[in-house]
Amino acid sequence: MILNSLRLRGFRNYEDFFCEFSPGVNLICGQNAQGKTNLLEAIVYLSQGSAFRTRKEAELIRFGAEFAELEARVQSYDREQTLRAVMFSGRRPRQLWLSGVKQKSRESMNGILGTVLFCPEDLLVLKKGAAERRRLLDDALCQLRPRYASALEEYNRILQQKGAALRAQAESPGYLAVLPEYNERMARLGAQLIVTRAKYLRELERRAAAFHLDFSGGREQLTLTYQTVSTVTDPFAPLPTVYEQLKAHQQSHYRAEIESMQCLSGPHKDDFDAALGGLSIRAFGSQGQTRTAAISLKLAERDIFEMDTGELPVLLLDDVLSELDAGRQDFVVNHIRRGQVFITCCDEEKMTDIGKTIQVENGKLKAEN
Ligand code: ATP
Ligand code: MG
Repeated sequence: MILNSLRLRGFRNYEDFFCEFSPGVNLICGQNAQGKTNLLEAIVYLSQGSAFRTRKEAELIRFGAEFAELEARVQSYDREQTLRAVMFSGRRPRQLWLSGVKQKSRESMNGILGTVLFCPEDLLVLKKGAAERRRLLDDALCQLRPRYASALEEYNRILQQKGAALRAQAESPGYLAVLPEYNERMARLGAQLIVTRAKYLRELERRAAAFHLDFSGGREQLTLTYQTVSTVTDPFAPLPTVYEQLKAHQQSHYRAEIESMQCLSGPHKDDFDAALGGLSIRAFGSQGQTRTAAISLKLAERDIFEMDTGELPVLLLDDVLSELDAGRQDFVVNHIRRGQVFITCCDEEKMTDIGKTIQVENGKLKAEN
């Protein structure tokens, strides 16, 4: 997949921007706060239908502007398509367009422009909270499996509704009546999420372990283990089995959920553990091991995307290379020679001479060569 060009109007600090890109390496240079990450954010928005730095759409619209418009020309599956998003200040819902046709949901846009984003926070993803690791799996899977994306969206919607009902029943117990219906749907969707994530994680493990082994000079064996609610004994079991086990978990937590007024049962708290030679990275990983494993995961994510779709996703490296020592920089650069890559960097540090350099200053294209 290749992002041929991008037009931004009223997005973040971009008033009116247009740029064409190289199918290889694109180096986005500029001083701090000039709009480098904003540019990657726009690309991710068109790729996934959501922003990675905020959940609030209003923040994406340029201060004082009425709307934001993003448009990309993309080479994807042997044809050129256009992705377009328009966001409005106020209550009017955003609009998504694919090659001139207005789309009802973001799922139909997913996968047209595949992206793998790698930023400095990701280097610590194996040390951080479960939410970041879940997000890593969900972001990758939503791009590859439209059905997964809709299941996740619906699951999250019901989760919120159930949470609201659990809080409301403290005042008016009538709300308890809606719980069986919510539980039923959450168990069905939840089983789908667990099984899909576990399978993806197994593939991620296989490929990331190979990178990590290579990286560590054949010394360290990386393993990834999916962790879900206690009653689900095997996340690779057939869907009906996982469904039944989720129901059992809901039943045993029925009273606790009512008393705590919180959803305690379901895969929304799921996680995975990464270990080296059997030792959990979260607890025992050194700085270097943690970073190396995170890089291996990202490289594996890109490979799986390619294997699954036949297309290489666009790789977005936000400030990540400058965070790495020379050995790790080389490892990454050597493994990303194919496909389209966007690398942000500050003016002083010129990372590489290959590809196109795009200079941004205060939300404007300063120069390109
Ligand atoms: P760094 O090198 O520090 O990472 P950067 O070039 O990646 O910098 P960005 O994060 O892309 O910087 O841009 C940040 C700038 O964009 C900030 O100065 C911020 O004030 C501005 N900005 C963010 N949102 C908006 C908005 N909605 N309207 C106008 N400006 C915005
Ligand atoms: Mg930045």
